[in-house]
Amino acid sequence: MRWSVKVGQLAGTVVYVHVTFFVLLAWIGVIDGLEKGSLAAAVEAVGFTTTLFACVVLHEFGHAFMARRFGIRTRDILLFPFGGVGRLERIPDVPSQELLIALAGPAVSVGIATALFAVLWLQGIAPRLEEFAMGEVPFTERLMFINAGLAAFNLLPAFPMDGGRVLRALLAMRIDYMRATELAARIGQGLAVLFAIVGAMTNPLLVIIALFVWMGAAGEAGLAHIKRALRGATVDSAMRTEFGALAPGDAIGRAAEMAIRHAQSDFPVLLDGHVVGLLTRHDLTRWLSVDGADRTAGEVMHRTFETIGRSEPLDAVFGRLSQEPGKALLVMDHGRLVGLVGLDEITNLLRVRRAVARRQPTVMGEEVSMHRRAGTR
Ligand SMILES: [Zn+2]
Repeated sequence: MRWSVKVGQLAGTVVYVHVTFFVLLAWIGVIDGLEKGSLAAAVEAVGFTTTLFACVVLHEFGHAFMARRFGIRTRDILLFPFGGVGRLERIPDVPSQELLIALAGPAVSVGIATALFAVLWLQGIAPRLEEFAMGEVPFTERLMFINAGLAAFNLLPAFPMDGGRVLRALLAMRIDYMRATELAARIGQGLAVLFAIVGAMTNPLLVIIALFVWMGAAGEAGLAHIKRALRGATVDSAMRTEFGALAPGDAIGRAAEMAIRHAQSDFPVLLDGHVVGLLTRHDLTRWLSVDGADRTAGEVMHRTFETIGRSEPLDAVFGRLSQEPGKALLVMDHGRLVGLVGLDEITNLLRVRRAVARRQPTVMGEEVSMHRRAGTR
């Protein structure tokens, strides 16, 4: 993760905090400290923001733990100043699973808000929304209201919010998954337009949120288009079958030369015809800049690498690869390496398919017009 600091790990999921988050913390501390003229105020403000973001991490772990129930790993959770993002290994195609995973996060936020409400209630305090809206309410009440707000905001039926996924999953239970995605994206973009109009008249922050929602919906619709285009295709149809391979004893300078000649990014390392490692473009550039070209592939290669069968469905593979752009999977057939597949290879296949598809409407158009002509005669 670039520009982020690892702060912990739980159940195989690493939590990273983006450096801009620390900038936000410092900024909040300084602003609050200056405004109220005390160090205590600054400490309280920073403490509150940190606690709030811990709640956001718990929300993300809600998604992660539910995903685990369906055998989906969450690689990492990244905290930005505007919230958290959990990177699931893949998005499930089964609507009921996506629904439960999407709902699990807001459920955690509601749970936290309810627990805080109970704590306040036991102390004989009745939190009032009007007081919160006015500004000055104590720590626990503020945390309760913001967690409730987080759940509500995340349930807005628009991508990239959880509510967008809830909507898609509900639609996909009745109609085709791709149609459901397109429809959910449209609804989200409609909502974004509404936000922008209301925001322009009231609060500029809403316009920024509208932009963010619009882009999220467009991104999701784009992904659905690609998945639709890949439907029915297998890894076989996209994989690169002509590629350079290295031996463990080869100097990495040889890989650099091959990278130029083959436009290939990842190099399998073979010993007696069996794959023993993988040298990625990232490793290659790193080692070349550190040690020159003399290191051997066997010294710097990854010994763990991901493989895939040639008959696997390509849309699922695309989902997996789009989480980690730049990565290539080794395509195996009966224990033998037969190809490489990464996003580049899938993009090439799509380009060819699109070109072919573009030809078809004109052919059909000619047919239609000929039929029409025949009919009028
Ligand atoms: Zn969420």
